[in-house]
Amino acid sequence: MFTAFLIKYAEIGIKGKNRYLFEDMLVHQMKLALKKCEGQFLIHKSQGRIFVEARGEFDFEEAVEGLKKVFGISGICPVVYEEDQGFEKLCERVVAYVDQVYPDKHKTFKVHSRRARKDYPKESMEINADLGEAILNAYPEMRVDVHEPEILLNVEIREKIYIYSEIIPGPGGMPVGTGGKAMLLLSGGIDSPVAGYMIAKRGVKLDAVYFHAPPYTSERARQKVVDLARTVAEYAGPIWLHIINFTDIQLYIHEKCPHEELTIIMRRYMMRIAEHIAKDTDCLGLITGESIGQVASQTMQSLAATNEVCSLPVYRPLIGFDKQEIVEVANRIGTFETSILPYEDCCTIFVAKHPVTKPNLNVIRRHEHNLDEGIEELVRTALETKELIVAGA
Ligand code: ATP
Ligand code: MG
Repeated sequence: MFTAFLIKYAEIGIKGKNRYLFEDMLVHQMKLALKKCEGQFLIHKSQGRIFVEARGEFDFEEAVEGLKKVFGISGICPVVYEEDQGFEKLCERVVAYVDQVYPDKHKTFKVHSRRARKDYPKESMEINADLGEAILNAYPEMRVDVHEPEILLNVEIREKIYIYSEIIPGPGGMPVGTGGKAMLLLSGGIDSPVAGYMIAKRGVKLDAVYFHAPPYTSERARQKVVDLARTVAEYAGPIWLHIINFTDIQLYIHEKCPHEELTIIMRRYMMRIAEHIAKDTDCLGLITGESIGQVASQTMQSLAATNEVCSLPVYRPLIGFDKQEIVEVANRIGTFETSILPYEDCCTIFVAKHPVTKPNLNVIRRHEHNLDEGIEELVRTALETKELIVAGA
């Protein structure tokens, strides 16, 4: 019965005179999302609201699923709309609406009307009372509850009349594209896809970099990362995924540095390379899936050591999250099942039995000097042989 949606957005509302930029970006992102759905849609802005109208046949569930992935949307309200044909007709329409949407009439309700058109012959309070009465006359088993109604029936009077009562929660956040761009260090693990999702949710566009180490890590491990990028791209939009062959760098570090420092030094090179690509591609920061204390390379001391090599800000949205909390988000956004596929991880193939948990920066720097002879060349080659995949285009 629904052929349209009224879109609610929360935080965009507070952006003052830049508000239209956020609204326009939201409309743009909604268009991209609906393009992937069956049917044709018309999206238009009107007085602090965005309306989506389906033109002809469309798949309701699919459209809702698509809109649920657009950051900036706080609620998706399936709405019935029609031309204003006088108040009597409106009463009939509202009564029919209640019948269609709520087969069980044993419910409390409240009518909430709004006149965007001040020339409408009745005032909101009067409209509420009269529509309420019409509903009670039609369905005596219904009751009015103005404080905690089970059904909040919204009636908006604009050029047309809109009736809605259901709000399907959207993902919240800000429209992607309103917050600049950042480079996500994307591994095949559980954490980094969630970290990317969370930053994209704040309106930031994502690029990503993955370090792989063939033949120690397989084609399947690489494919897993591409798949994760695709899933995150359903929310964040197409992601440029840079794939760096890290094998020679890793072997060189393995050969020249103490094994218990291998992970930290490797992470420092990942950050350096990621930052290099980030600066080349106008990214304003790096994103990782680190969380304090999760593993040896994520203690405060280790994080300080990996942070030190970058000049761009490093965003770590999971920093205070427990693993269980991260898993919950991963499940909700659909990355978890892919993340737990048991393929080798480039971070772990050479791990020491007893990695340092409190690396001393001076010591790390000194040991990195062991790499002076060959590392620059290896980094250059890694950058030159970089592959680029656009995930989710
Ligand atoms: P994740 O679940 O994201 O893999 P993790 O708990 O396994 O994280 P680490 O392996 O120590 O933790 O990695 C910490 C962060 O470093 C990751 O969240 C990711 O952002 C980045 N990272 C690790 N390995 C890679 C890789 N091979 N390619 C790109 N980024 C990586
Ligand atoms: Mg990992």
